[in-house]
Amino acid sequence: MAGMQEVHIPLSALTAARRSPTLTSLAGPPLDAFQRPLRDLRISVTDRCNFRCGYCMPKEHFGPGYRFLPHADLLSFEEITRLARVFVGLGVRKLRLTGGEPLLRRDLPKLVAQLAALRTPEGAPLDLTLTTNGSLLAKQAQPLADAGLQRITVSLDALDDAVFRRMNDVDFPVADVLAGIAAAQAAGLGPVKVNMVVQRGVNDHEVEAMAAHFRGSGVVLRFIEFMDVGSHNGWKLDHVLPSRELVERIQRRWPLRALEASAPGETAERWAYADGAGELGFISSVSQAFCGTCNRARLSTDGRLYTCLFGHQGLPLREHLRDPANSDSDLAARIGRHWMQRSDRYSVLRLSQTEALPKVEMHFIGG
Ligand code: SAM
Ligand code: SF4
Ligand code: SF4
Repeated sequence: MAGMQEVHIPLSALTAARRSPTLTSLAGPPLDAFQRPLRDLRISVTDRCNFRCGYCMPKEHFGPGYRFLPHADLLSFEEITRLARVFVGLGVRKLRLTGGEPLLRRDLPKLVAQLAALRTPEGAPLDLTLTTNGSLLAKQAQPLADAGLQRITVSLDALDDAVFRRMNDVDFPVADVLAGIAAAQAAGLGPVKVNMVVQRGVNDHEVEAMAAHFRGSGVVLRFIEFMDVGSHNGWKLDHVLPSRELVERIQRRWPLRALEASAPGETAERWAYADGAGELGFISSVSQAFCGTCNRARLSTDGRLYTCLFGHQGLPLREHLRDPANSDSDLAARIGRHWMQRSDRYSVLRLSQTEALPKVEMHFIGG
C-alpha cells in the first residue's frame, strides 16, 4: 500500500521497550513504544449479537437479563465517520466494521457509504471491510457492496448443521450462512474470507470437510486458534489446536506451499494448495504470537479506544467528540498520545502471565 512502511520487530526487542514516551508534537504518524505504526482500525458498531457462540458470548453470561448498551451510548454514524477521518490522519489505511453482529445495526449501508467516501492524504480510498456471522448477509450483501464495501469476512465454524447449530447456540442453520457467502460472492465482495475458530474436541473434526467444501470456490478459508478473549469463555490451553498441527493435517490430504504475507502486520499465515485450488490462512495468535507487527486499534461501540484485543481499559473518546470545544486536531492529539504510550503485547506474555487481569469482552470491541 502506498506510503506504508514494513515493520518487523524481533520479539527480543519487545522486552526492551521505551517505557514512557512523551508527545511533544504530532509531526508525523505516531509510533508506539515498540515503533509500531497505527494502520488498522476495527470499529464495533453494536455490542449486540443474534448468536451466542460459547467462545465469545456464552449464554450463561449473556442471557436474557444481560444489559446491552442503551442507544444513546452508541456512537452515531457521523461520530464514527469523524473519528475514522481523524484516525486516517494518524496513519490508518484499513477499516473493518465488526461487533457484536454488525449487520444488526440499522441502516449500516449508510455508514459504509460515509466511510467509503474517506480518502488517505494521498487521495486514495481506504481498504474497507466487514466481519459478520453471515446470518443476515443474503439480504444485505448487495446493498453493502452498492454502498462501497470492498470485501467481507464471514465466520463459520462447521459445515455439519448439528455442530454449527450447537456452536452458535441459537439453533441457526448452516444453509443460511452458506447462502450469505454466495450472495457476497455474487455482489463482488471478494475474495470472501471465511473464519473458522477451531476448538479441540468441539469442531476440529470439521476441518477437512470445511477445506474440501471451500477448495476451488474462490473463498479463502482461515483457521483461527481459539483465544482467551474476555473473561467468560472458559478458555484452556488444551482446547487450542495449534496451526502447525492443522497445516500438517491438511497437507496429508492436499499438498500446500507457503505464501508471502500480502501486507505488513497481516495476522494470517498464508498457504496455497499446490494444485491451484486456492488459498488458506492460519491465524496463530496463541502458538505464534504476532504482537511484534501489530498495527491494530479498536473502537468500542461506546467510543473507547482499545489498543489490544486483550486490553482492560479503553481511552474514552465519546465525550471529547461530543464536546464542541474539541477540534479534530484535539482529538488527533489525544489519540496520537495514547498510541505513542502503547506497549501492548498480550499474546507474547500470555503463557508467562501469573495473574489474570480483567479483559474487555470481544463483542464490545470486535474481533
Ligand atoms: N459477529 C461477527 C462474527 O462473528 O464474525 C463479528 C464479531 S466476532 C467477535 C469477530 C471474529 O472474532 C469472528 O471471526 C469470531 O469467530 C472471532 N472470535 C470470537 N471469539 C473468539 C475466540 N475466543 N477465539 C478466537 N476467535 C474468536
Ligand atoms: Fe456473535 Fe460473532 Fe461473538 Fe459469535 S463470534 S457471539 S457471532 S459476535
Ligand atoms: Fe495486537 Fe494485542 Fe493481539 Fe498482540 S495480543 S497481536 S498487541 S491485539
